[in-house]
Amino acid sequence: MYSGPILKLRTELKSVIEYELPIGEELVGMNKFIGKYIHFEWKNEILCISCGRKTNKSFAQGYCYPCFLNSPETSECILRPELCEAHEGKARDMKWAKNHCLQPHYVYLAVSSGIKVGITRYSQIPTRWIDQGASFAIKIAETPNRFISGIIEVALKEFVSDRTAWQKMLKNQVLEEFDLIEKKHELFSKLNSNLQKFKVEDDKITEINYPVLEFPKKVKSIGFDKFNEIAGRIMGIKGQYLIFDDNTVLNIRKHNGYVIEMKL
Ligand SMILES: [Zn+2]
Repeated sequence: MYSGPILKLRTELKSVIEYELPIGEELVGMNKFIGKYIHFEWKNEILCISCGRKTNKSFAQGYCYPCFLNSPETSECILRPELCEAHEGKARDMKWAKNHCLQPHYVYLAVSSGIKVGITRYSQIPTRWIDQGASFAIKIAETPNRFISGIIEVALKEFVSDRTAWQKMLKNQVLEEFDLIEKKHELFSKLNSNLQKFKVEDDKITEINYPVLEFPKKVKSIGFDKFNEIAGRIMGIKGQYLIFDDNTVLNIRKHNGYVIEMKL
């Protein structure tokens, strides 16, 4: 039995993704539980992942309300990079912004169901792709900060989605015919000339395989706010979701900071 606050699944890119669940002080390898029956119980407690205080409600996937309002991790530019002002010396916390917003970022294309564009800090590759449940991904631009990546993403949103269709992703309804390299160059040709210099020349495609025995035909999301106990046979893990044998799926990341007891 394991018990304590959980954090989003840690991942490692191998021929099949390896997942670990941080719970309390432990890091539990999850791949070995696939095909097995597992039982989770929420202990009606949430601990803010920034300040550690108890909170009745979780904001932005794990923060108490004061931290949601003030902590740099929940700045507006996290969801809307094009609004980042760190390069002008403005941020909730400049020290944090230096280590995050003012670091190299990548714009990428990923295929989780259809093709989507996204951005992430250089060190978050391939983590970000795996968290989204992407099957394939390619870097398209490398920029010196978050803001410029955001500008490129906004420009490309006109031609390609920036959303993950999570239900299709979980059902493994992945686009069959596509050419990511061709798409990359096609999209890039539509950018303003002042953005052309950020293009990544390397056309390497990363392929990602998830530990799933059988994908669900339908998908129903469940969470601890509605059900204190969640149990079932785990059929697989994809993105940040555990997939159970009754077509229910549990988004682990959404429950950052929830105090959980887990047993077989
Ligand atoms: Zn807090």
